[in-house]
Amino acid sequence: MLVHLFMGVGEDYSVCTGTMANSERTFIVIKPDGLQRSLVGEIIKRFEQKGFRFIAMKLIQASEDLLKEHYIDLKDRPFFAGLVKYMQSGPVVVMVWEDLNVVKTGRVMLGETNPPDSKLGTIRGDFCIQVGRNIIHGKDSVESAEKEIGLWLQPEELVYYKSCAQSWIYE
Ligand code: UDP
Ligand code: MG
Repeated sequence: MLVHLFMGVGEDYSVCTGTMANSERTFIVIKPDGLQRSLVGEIIKRFEQKGFRFIAMKLIQASEDLLKEHYIDLKDRPFFAGLVKYMQSGPVVVMVWEDLNVVKTGRVMLGETNPPDSKLGTIRGDFCIQVGRNIIHGKDSVESAEKEIGLWLQPEELVYYKSCAQSWIYE
């Protein structure tokens, strides 16, 4: 009987529909260098330990067309071709995290685009050195995150579920 108290039997944590109140979604990609350098677990750990909740995650080899569309706003920049090649050089892990202020906080956790400008304690500040190998992508606005979620994922790949930690994370 005691075990039941701790396990939360009677509660339903299965897949459900809808989102949490006040929440937003962000789109994160662990780039090929992050995966090859075995930083996937470390990066996921940071988001999990913050208290954020993932609602999608997949390993994918991105096509050139997808990456060109993904970085369309940067198409005239001199590093565009190299960026697409880098992002295609191996599989990536794409994730959607949903929670309160996850877009802004996610960017803070990533650090600055250029690693030397990133504070220690951020992902880019701790694990990388050059802008062209900065291991992680994350959106800086709710609108652009939604656009990228639609580009990379099918609606059925987003999985909503109740988290037993919510009442301990939110007042
Ligand atoms: N990038 C690069 N050289 C530059 C600027 C950017 O290779 O001088 C790459 C880098 O991988 C960066 C990505 O292009 O993460 C997208 O650039 P953006 O300015 O959107 O930075 P982010 O949003 O990723 O911080
Ligand atoms: Mg950007």
